[in-house]
Amino acid sequence: MKKLVILGAGESGAGTAVLGLKQGYDVFVSDMGPIKPQYKQLMDTYHVPYEENGHTEARILDATEVVKSPGIPATAPLVQKLTALGTPILSEIEFAARYSRAQFVCITGSNGKTTTTSLIYDIFCRAGYNVGLAGNIGKSLALQVALDDKQWYVVELSSFQLDNMYRFRAHIAVLMNITPDHLDRYDFCFQNYVDAKMRITRNQQPDDAFIYWQGDPVIMKEIGKLNSAKQEAHRDGAVCQATLCPFTVETPLPVPDAELSLKGVHNRLNATAATLAARKAGIDDSVIAVSLRTFAGVEHRLQFVCEKNGIRFINDSKATNVNSCFYALGAMTTPTVLILGGKDKGNDYSEIDDLVRQKCHTLVYMGLHNEKLHEHFDCMTRLDGTPLRIIDTNNLADCVRLSYQAALDFDNSPKAGELPEGLKGHSTVLLSPCCASFDLFRSYEDRGDQFMSAAKSL
Ligand code: ADP
Repeated sequence: MKKLVILGAGESGAGTAVLGLKQGYDVFVSDMGPIKPQYKQLMDTYHVPYEENGHTEARILDATEVVKSPGIPATAPLVQKLTALGTPILSEIEFAARYSRAQFVCITGSNGKTTTTSLIYDIFCRAGYNVGLAGNIGKSLALQVALDDKQWYVVELSSFQLDNMYRFRAHIAVLMNITPDHLDRYDFCFQNYVDAKMRITRNQQPDDAFIYWQGDPVIMKEIGKLNSAKQEAHRDGAVCQATLCPFTVETPLPVPDAELSLKGVHNRLNATAATLAARKAGIDDSVIAVSLRTFAGVEHRLQFVCEKNGIRFINDSKATNVNSCFYALGAMTTPTVLILGGKDKGNDYSEIDDLVRQKCHTLVYMGLHNEKLHEHFDCMTRLDGTPLRIIDTNNLADCVRLSYQAALDFDNSPKAGELPEGLKGHSTVLLSPCCASFDLFRSYEDRGDQFMSAAKSL
């Protein structure tokens, strides 16, 4: 009997265990930390053997195949031992897709994955398709395949999932953009991260679609390589033969731009990718149009929180890298207090310099280590030559209170009457931190929730 070991008992691991059992594997689940009660309950229901708070190495090294949670890095000692033994290490998606007859719509990119995935799922549901939502969001793909396989899956894929995918075929692949992120997991080498993202095209067939943003120079460089690779197939046969479907910010949509429910240039791109994916799946423009007009967006992404004395609070806690903050600032039409900081993943803040100078009057740092922010921004001036106001905080309560005060101070100052072109009205307090949240919070959701409740109770 084939021995399947699953490392990490979260949503993907517990689901894989159930599917593995159903497919006749001898399954064992191992987690370094405590396992959440709902996953224990699921595994108990199916009599899956598991351990928590540590690994029994001998049993793990004896595996025929291993499915690894995307959160565990390739550098973890146990993973390195498995690699040295030549044990195949797969992602949940790779494993689950073996046992599904569905078609897969897969979305990756540095930013916009969740928004685009959710929008595509909304369109497919509206069209009456038998569809599941999986990957980084939604339920485990493996569990859905095990219990109630669908005809379609819309799957959000991170680079970490793509790292362990080999034979998986995306019938429709969407690549939003590639900008530096997670470099700490890729030896601080951007090309390694780019290569991981491009794995979404592996095994695609001529009838499949590869939808990508033509305005991204990194993607376009890779497209050039793809075209030459088509002539000379890779040794492992994992060449991409898909029909290339580029889009731009001007690709026509089934509704006028002013009627799109999600605002900002980045969301125009997300809507375009979703439209092309839905059309490829045979969905009519009339159905797509309804979604584009009504889709409410996803929490923690440029989410309006509340307004106090004319000052608006916007929660963009999911902006965990510099590029997403770039787009958030791009969408601002009022003078802005920008809240930045958290766990820096090797950020280069210069990408937002111009927008900060143009749109922000105050920067509020919120983190345990704000040194890099001080070094980069403290000497910066606004477009009119006046200095930016810098406020240093290391907890959320101070951060929200002082941000609000800075917004009021600015709005009551003479400077409020001399705004640069493109800005008008009262200040906005924007949480778009460019950083992960783990220094002060459990997750970006926790950071966003705390921000929203603090703002509402001001
Ligand atoms: P992901 O799942 O890739 O992290 P999200 O849809 O959750 O993407 O959005 C994450 C952040 O990126 C949000 O702050 C959002 O405002 C911003 N964003 C959304 N779509 C895009 C895009 N196409 N390009 C750049 N930034 C984007």
